[in-house]
Formats: sequence, structure tokens, C-alpha cells
Amino acid sequence: MTLDGTNTWVLRAPGAEYATVIDPGPLDDDHLRRIAAHGPIQFILVTHGHVDHVEGAARLSELLGGTAVLAADPAHTVGGDPLDPDESLGGNGIEIHVVDTPGHTRDSVCFLVESGNDRAMLTGDTILGRGTAVVAWPDGDLGAYLTSLGRLTAYEDVPVLPGHGPALTDCAAVAREYLDHRRDRLDQVRAALAAGATTPEAVVDAVYPDIDPGVRFAAEWSTRAQLDYLRRESQSGPWRLDPL
Ligand SMILES: [Zn+2]
Repeated sequence: MTLDGTNTWVLRAPGAEYATVIDPGPLDDDHLRRIAAHGPIQFILVTHGHVDHVEGAARLSELLGGTAVLAADPAHTVGGDPLDPDESLGGNGIEIHVVDTPGHTRDSVCFLVESGNDRAMLTGDTILGRGTAVVAWPDGDLGAYLTSLGRLTAYEDVPVLPGHGPALTDCAAVAREYLDHRRDRLDQVRAALAAGATTPEAVVDAVYPDIDPGVRFAAEWSTRAQLDYLRRESQSGPWRLDPL
């Protein structure tokens, strides 16, 4: 689920004293000390509250002598105020704009970072470096996720620095690919329902016939998110699904 592990990004403008950390990652003291060695750090930002991104945040703050941890969810914020959607943070040669992108989780945000003529979008798990992201139902929401992907299609030619996997070159292009993929999947789910699937498990079997058992739970999350979305889209649809 974490591909090759979580990416922790340390960004520093040329010649600037303070760097910014995005997603400190798990509570692994060696990893956190290596991040701290890149200090001083002006703030530690968190894209969302999943443990593989945020678990080490409080410890990193401590190692740095109390650097604030800023997250959309107050539960993950340390020594500062929770991030507001569309808030901007600045200092030390970089401008950081919070982009409100719920969907993978309710608290997911992206960070548009600008320094001189350089820009990058830090996407957490909203866009990954390879494969596709998961809607972590029920905290995640497919309708919100589609809206968020639509928002990210505005960033043409902005590089993506994701929470897992390699960097990508064009945020808008990837967001459009993700939207196409989601629409294809929704069509497949509609087809499975039309063909008589009556449970989420049966939909998973129809839509993901070759799924690796180790990641089947992720397909089930996504399927439940899709069914939830379709049920809301058409309350009077022809399908009836027992409590999901
Ligand atoms: Zn996540």
C-alpha cells in the first residue's frame, strides 16, 4: 500500500536558511533524525492524517526543538493552528498555498509550492507517482475526490511531488488521467450491477477479476466508495444493495 515507502519532502529555496518539510512519515527515529539534519525547518506540513504520513510528526517537531506541525485536522496539528483550505504560508523564499482536495480522506490537502519561477504540487495520496490512489472509504468520498481532481486539472505543467512513488511532470495531465480512470471504473461498476451483482464483494469480483488477494481490501474500499457515489447519484436506481 505504501509502494516503496512514504516520500518525505524537504524543500529549501536557493540560499534560504529555513527549509519546509512535507509529510515526515512513520515514527522511525533514524529517518526522522536524517530529516532533522536538513534543518533549520520553518514548519512541518502534513497532507493528511494517515499513519504512514504523520506518525513521526510530533517526534520530528521535538527533535527540531518545537517546530510547528500544520495539518488540516486539528488532531495532527502541533504548536500552531490547523490549516485552512486556500490558506497561504510564506517565508524563506517559498510561498505555499493550501489546495483543498478532500476525497482520499476527508482531511486531504495538496500544497502548491512556489519559489521564483519554480512551482510544484505536493499531492500526498491524492495523486501518486504510479498506479492510482485509493478512496479510503468511509472517511474518503468519491464525489469529493472527483471534485478535487477537477480542481487539480487547473495546474498545467506543474510538477507533482507525490506521497508515494516517483515525481511526475504535469499535475493537470495526471489529474485528467485519474478522472478518466475513475469514470471508466464507475462504468464498470454500473455494468456489474446491471449484470446482477448485489453485494460489494460480487462487484469487486466482476470489476477486479485478477486482484491480488493482498490488496483486495483496497479494491473493496474503492468499490464501496463507488457504490456510495452511485447510490447518491441515483437514489431511485434499479439496484438494491443491502447495508454497505
Ligand atoms: Zn493515505
